[in-house]
Amino acid sequence: MKKATKTVICVIAAVLVIGAAVGGYVGYQLTYHPSKWLAESDADFAEKPFEETLGELTALSNTWEEAVPQTEIYNLVKDHFDAPLPAGKTEKKAIVIGYDGCRVDALRLLPTAKRSAINHLLDGGGQGVFSYCGGVMYPEENVQATSTAPGWCSMLIGRWANEIGVNNNGQPKPLEPKTLLLSLAEDGTADKTAFYVSWDGHFSKKDATYINEKNYAKENGVNATFLRAFFDAGTRRNVLSDIKKKDCSDFIFLTLEYTDHQGHATGFGPQNPKYISAFRDADAVGMDFIEAIESRATFDSEDWLILITTDHGGSGTGHGGPSFEERMTFIFSNKPIL
Ligand SMILES: [Zn+2]
Repeated sequence: MKKATKTVICVIAAVLVIGAAVGGYVGYQLTYHPSKWLAESDADFAEKPFEETLGELTALSNTWEEAVPQTEIYNLVKDHFDAPLPAGKTEKKAIVIGYDGCRVDALRLLPTAKRSAINHLLDGGGQGVFSYCGGVMYPEENVQATSTAPGWCSMLIGRWANEIGVNNNGQPKPLEPKTLLLSLAEDGTADKTAFYVSWDGHFSKKDATYINEKNYAKENGVNATFLRAFFDAGTRRNVLSDIKKKDCSDFIFLTLEYTDHQGHATGFGPQNPKYISAFRDADAVGMDFIEAIESRATFDSEDWLILITTDHGGSGTGHGGPSFEERMTFIFSNKPIL
């Protein structure tokens, strides 16, 4: 090999390595940054036993014993689209804002939030309820992993995901039953649907949960967008860009990884200041979406259902198992749920 060729190859290799390092660093900064939404009191947030906090979560209007299955998300969306348009409204829209791996006791942080999508929904006449993941109600041992794929999949198909073979991550969902993303677009309920994520396990790997749906949509011209960004900052941009379009998607489903990433990295739960920060970030970004929705020129003539939920909790730096902390979840809506 000529010396000049070797030099060129070395330079290209060096540029690639430096580029990857810089890109990784910038990406990390975009994903996790010290939250500007932290409250003064967050610095000395008092740790409490999990169960003790559940009775004190005034944002939720049922008790944990009355928790609804997380599959209820599917029913809320279906019922919204099936109900007649209210007077003065000409179009139905719905969005599910997912805070991945958000433990229910993080809701203790709501009263001191500076910017909170959840508080905004409640202030506007919405409602919040305890829900549960895992296929059966706690304390019965879970029959599907308290993990990302089965959690979101159960909400998107309205049945427990283990019934169709999605017991954990890395198990592609069979095409049937189709999720709301395909079914609403195919039966004409929605002109367009969209699924925005940064986690590659949803539809960006061979064994991803919705890989069959993504391929089917592409091959059959179904107007369902499956778009993955590399970080939450990218998901935020993608979702805002959709909402700001005159003809935005009728059904938007998205997941933010702030709480899940920080839980795995440093510990799930509000006893961890970094987890507190992650929750603040997620709930502030959720508010960005709601603000964009309410700023739409056609907002007054649109009937929006806005849901905020999580797929599972966490314990230590993990989840998937049967513990109380992993099993309890929540659902918030801009409309009454119960
Ligand atoms: Zn998850």
